[in-house]
Amino acid sequence: MKIFCVGRNYVDHIEELKNERPDEIVIFSKPDTARLQRDEDFYIPAFSQNVHYEVELLIKIKKVGKYIQPEFAHRYYDEIGLGIDFTARDLQEKLKSKGLPWEKAKGFDGSAVISPTWINKEDFSDLQNINFSLQKNEEVVQKGNTSHMLWKIDELIAEISTYFTLKTGDILFTGTPAGVGKINEGDVLEGFVEDVSMFKVKVR
Ligand code: ZN
Repeated sequence: MKIFCVGRNYVDHIEELKNERPDEIVIFSKPDTARLQRDEDFYIPAFSQNVHYEVELLIKIKKVGKYIQPEFAHRYYDEIGLGIDFTARDLQEKLKSKGLPWEKAKGFDGSAVISPTWINKEDFSDLQNINFSLQKNEEVVQKGNTSHMLWKIDELIAEISTYFTLKTGDILFTGTPAGVGKINEGDVLEGFVEDVSMFKVKVR
């Protein structure tokens, strides 16, 4: 199982981190060991003093594909999930400033929360108009709508499959909207797609 992530896909989040608006899709991956196991708590790693949550809509790939054209991309997924791309922001800033890869800041153990719940795409009237949100200790901290994606779901699949063969079960993190922030021990993070609770994670 591969986990692909898209960086800088929502304008409001690009602005909050003072990043440049990319003219090419920013893609990175997390190893399969990054997946936080179901019902496990997230432990803040010792190497970071500033781990951020990033709530993101997820796409689960259902068959093998390479060089997928955007108009056929919808044939490669049925299910929509929700996840958190945990990021060691302090480490990421350090690596970015040196022009080094982000892998350590983004791909560490437990850094990928993948919802146990998935929703069939047929249940949405428009995939590019889905509301999702994250609550921290029962307060909404992030709110997104897929209409604000710079690159739409089908374009992301086409672009990623240009470089990497997609396989059944691969997961795509589609980028985070504004509102990312630091987690602390004891926090409880709960993600929603529309009004459906998709996951709940405790921070240790
Ligand atoms: Zn992210």
